[in-house]
Amino acid sequence: MGSVQIVTTILAAGITAVAVWLAVRAVMKMTAVIRLGQPAPERFADKGARTRKMLVETAGHTRMLKWGVVGAAHWFVMVGFIVLSLLVLEAYFEVVTPTGGLPIIGHWTVFGLATEIITVLGLVGILVLMAIRLRNRPNRPGGRSRFTGSTMWQGYFVEWIVLLVLIFGLVIRGFKVATDHFEYPVWATPVSHAVGAILPDWSDGASVAALIKIVISMTWLIVISLNVTMGVAWHRFLAFPNIFFKRDPEKPAGSGLGPLRPMTSEGKPLDFEEADPEKDQFGVAQVEQFTWKGLLDFSTCTECGRCQSQCPAWNTGKPLSPKLLVLSLRDHAYAKAPYLLAGGGKDLTGEEKATQAQLAHLDVLSLAEGDKPLIGTAEEGGVIDPDVLWSCTTCGACVEQCPVDIEHVDHIVDMRRYQVLIESSFPSEAGVMLRNLENKGNPWGAPQNTREDWTKGLDFEVPRVGEVDDFEYLFWVGCAGAFEDRAKKTTRAVATLLNEAGVSFAILGEGETCSGDPARRIGNEFVFQMLAQQNVETLNEAFEGREKTKRKIVATCPHCFNTLGNEYGQLGGEFEVVHHTQLLAHLVSTGKLTPVQPVDGGVTYHDPCYLGRHNRVFAAPREVLGDSIQGELTEMPRNSERSFCCGAGGARMWMEEKIGKRINVDRVEEAMATGARTVAVGCPFCSTMLNDGVNGKGAGEQVEVVDVASVLLRSVKPEQPRGDKEATPVVG
Ligand code: SF4
Ligand code: SF4
Repeated sequence: MGSVQIVTTILAAGITAVAVWLAVRAVMKMTAVIRLGQPAPERFADKGARTRKMLVETAGHTRMLKWGVVGAAHWFVMVGFIVLSLLVLEAYFEVVTPTGGLPIIGHWTVFGLATEIITVLGLVGILVLMAIRLRNRPNRPGGRSRFTGSTMWQGYFVEWIVLLVLIFGLVIRGFKVATDHFEYPVWATPVSHAVGAILPDWSDGASVAALIKIVISMTWLIVISLNVTMGVAWHRFLAFPNIFFKRDPEKPAGSGLGPLRPMTSEGKPLDFEEADPEKDQFGVAQVEQFTWKGLLDFSTCTECGRCQSQCPAWNTGKPLSPKLLVLSLRDHAYAKAPYLLAGGGKDLTGEEKATQAQLAHLDVLSLAEGDKPLIGTAEEGGVIDPDVLWSCTTCGACVEQCPVDIEHVDHIVDMRRYQVLIESSFPSEAGVMLRNLENKGNPWGAPQNTREDWTKGLDFEVPRVGEVDDFEYLFWVGCAGAFEDRAKKTTRAVATLLNEAGVSFAILGEGETCSGDPARRIGNEFVFQMLAQQNVETLNEAFEGREKTKRKIVATCPHCFNTLGNEYGQLGGEFEVVHHTQLLAHLVSTGKLTPVQPVDGGVTYHDPCYLGRHNRVFAAPREVLGDSIQGELTEMPRNSERSFCCGAGGARMWMEEKIGKRINVDRVEEAMATGARTVAVGCPFCSTMLNDGVNGKGAGEQVEVVDVASVLLRSVKPEQPRGDKEATPVVG
């Protein structure tokens, strides 16, 4: 070993020892913080499915590749990081001797070829990612950036480290080529040979370059170890467990979408008959009351801003960004951790758990963090502003986009639950809706005995459950479908089409009550359970003696569709629920309904969040519309998985929209820009919001918002009185 190698070996060993020690300390700290969360035993079920999903999502980059160029570039960088870690390991042999290499595989041409290819593709990938980050930097002129609020130096730092590590890998090889100590043939390693051709014949060159490569790699490890909230770097390790422990590993996409998690305390679902707010946790009031998976979510955020770029609240000037919400919770959790780990924290009655002695050694910042209210205005020192919490429509665009499967909607609703159930603190306008739900069983407060009024004037009898011996589908009308004028027209259209197709169906009539969706999304789990239990009982009675596959329900409201199909199972109600567009698509494809007259004037379709993203019903409504217009739909730029919310979900329908641009107006502008005269919807709330938006723009005479069922009815029965709207004709 020459003197140069003695120095390079000592320096490499020294910096590595420091980096590894700091990294072990950082991992222990992160583990301790994540373990502060509440139990989530269900996350350990289905380990096989979880492992499969984790491998598919990471190796296949299935979620990243939704954004093609970024996804492909990131894949090469990820593979480069994993495979080229071997080359960092090899550098430790090269600091000792410039001709050193990995034992066994280090002399194998296949290894030389594979690492050469990955190095080159990794270089291309990281340059692409750097260009994308620069092009989208928050301070660029014009437009909002998905990186607004991200810690930009961390992103640049990580990217430069990757770039330099890759470059120095080639430099090491180049020196080996230049000194004639490189074993791989030119055909397998052409780039290394090209670099070698321009480097001097310096015998210690490989050792010095290897030391630089180790110093760069260990600097990265030291920096991230000193910054445990540096998700842009830590996600390389944390993404694996975060994906493994996602809520539903069997779901093709959007694991945190569809049903909400039941309210839990100590990891067990809360039973409101026995629950006691002084002993049981009602929602989340402190960051440590999230489950450990929640804290893992916050730690894993890469700050990529994909969620932010799609969020309807953020895009219309509201203070909510799902990314910034996650970052605030993460920073708060880590800042509060020393206080919590010292034994601090408030019990469920708000009393401090720690003694003075336990907290004596803590710095003032940790203590101050422990005192911060989780929800509170800036003046109150809150972590999350109430305007942020209540801006969410639970549309799920953030969950759908997140490449590491963070479950934003669950966290938002958990925080709402505490605010509503314990603090009674929520936008006051929504109080009327909640009172109506409790007293009248519907958000509008309409008398129950008017639930069947929509059937009046139909030229056939609508059968009620109990009045008919048998029925195939129970037609769940929903509160909007029963009481709201526009939605009533959809209900009538669906009933007419079912009757026309000879489908045997029956309604519950006055036996139906609100599904509970608005109560649950606003956070009032108590009212949700009250309504849901009543409905489950009614439905179980209606389907008595039938197996699950024969307990069929058709619903026109995607919120009811989601709640009945995905959430009632939590309360013992197992049903096969379809959305009316799915049933109509089936009836058309099997020839039971025949569109005869094409609807013209151009039609675009707005995907309701709870039908599309939350339940992945994208094709059926498009099929129905395609058959009705006998041509191509005009798609909006934001459609299907990336559809833009109408602004009504998450009980926002019953709250005023006081900040920023109205979400429905933003969506209507997009729909109108397509030039279509008909905007088809599949949800009564979308219908209301988009109609309001169209009317607000004074475009009611040019553009019509109408349900998919009504469009089909016009095509199937053109002679049918329109009923939906007395404006511009759209039937050709
Ligand atoms: S659910 Fe929708 S509105 Fe709520 S934070 Fe996510 S993207 Fe924004
Ligand atoms: S999409 Fe996921 S990882 Fe990216 S910023 Fe949003 S929460 Fe973080």
